[in-house]
Amino acid sequence: MPRPPAARGGRRVDLHSHTIFSDGALAPEAVVALAVERGLAALAITYHDSVEGVPRAREAAGSAIELVPGIEVSSMLDGLDLHILGYYLDPADDELLETLARFRTERLDRALQMVERLTALGVPVDRDQVLALAGPGVVGRPHVAEALLRAGHVETMDDAFRLFLGAQGPAFVQRPAFRPEQAIALVHAAGGVSVLAHPGAGLSERVVEHLATARLDGIEVWHPQHGMASVRRYHALAAKLGLIETGGSDFHDQGRGVDLGELPVPASVLGPLKQAAGVPG
Ligand code: AMP
Ligand code: FE
Ligand code: FE
Ligand code: ZN
Repeated sequence: MPRPPAARGGRRVDLHSHTIFSDGALAPEAVVALAVERGLAALAITYHDSVEGVPRAREAAGSAIELVPGIEVSSMLDGLDLHILGYYLDPADDELLETLARFRTERLDRALQMVERLTALGVPVDRDQVLALAGPGVVGRPHVAEALLRAGHVETMDDAFRLFLGAQGPAFVQRPAFRPEQAIALVHAAGGVSVLAHPGAGLSERVVEHLATARLDGIEVWHPQHGMASVRRYHALAAKLGLIETGGSDFHDQGRGVDLGELPVPASVLGPLKQAAGVPG
């Protein structure tokens, strides 16, 4: 199949995507097909607390596109919800799989507690529907939010988070503590490279410095939450702290958020990422 012409300014990569194995809508094969269709030089799959989609994505990618195995690990630091991306980690690593199995159980307990709270608040959702929405993936607040939407208790996902499921919301249940330093160590133990996901507009430099001290390898510079000012800020901070730079669309579904491959993440970020991972090429 002929590839479309390279994007202006050179080819792109997308190093942040979700599928049905976390809270995305598409199967790994469909996301890979989109990435190939768009002529991306590489695609990373980075599902919340899961590496289950890696083999299927690899198989689908074949030699049509470079597939970067990944994960997005959720963690909390002093009330801040921080996500650590892991790239080129071994999806069969024992310690990794044990920890992810624990997360899966903890997430299930927590989702059921949130369902109970919603019932007590007079906005009941069906627990089986929440689990069905999670499909084969790990369950999370987006699935509970979707159930609230389908039950007609809210009009948008955003309202579901704002009124009920956000960190200050009455139905919010905290997950057992897992710190970003632990997420970084987990990624490293599985042979991967750790990258702070979407630091956003407001994150203080001190937090990034702290994580760099905890052996963080990189920072996500390009992300839908980052305007031009944030892209410049994190580009400069990466240079200052000696962090590698990555970026991606945080793709969940077509027509939701930024589309796959839409951000101008240059293929040149791949070299330093692979070097940090000790991957040839
Ligand atoms: P959890 O990991 O279960 O705590 O759910 C967190 C996930 O919910 C994030 O990774 C986002 O994908 C999603 N999320 C958080 N806030 C919102 C929001 N306001 N609207 C839609 N999705 C959200
Ligand atoms: Fe998500
Ligand atoms: Fe995230
Ligand atoms: Zn994400």
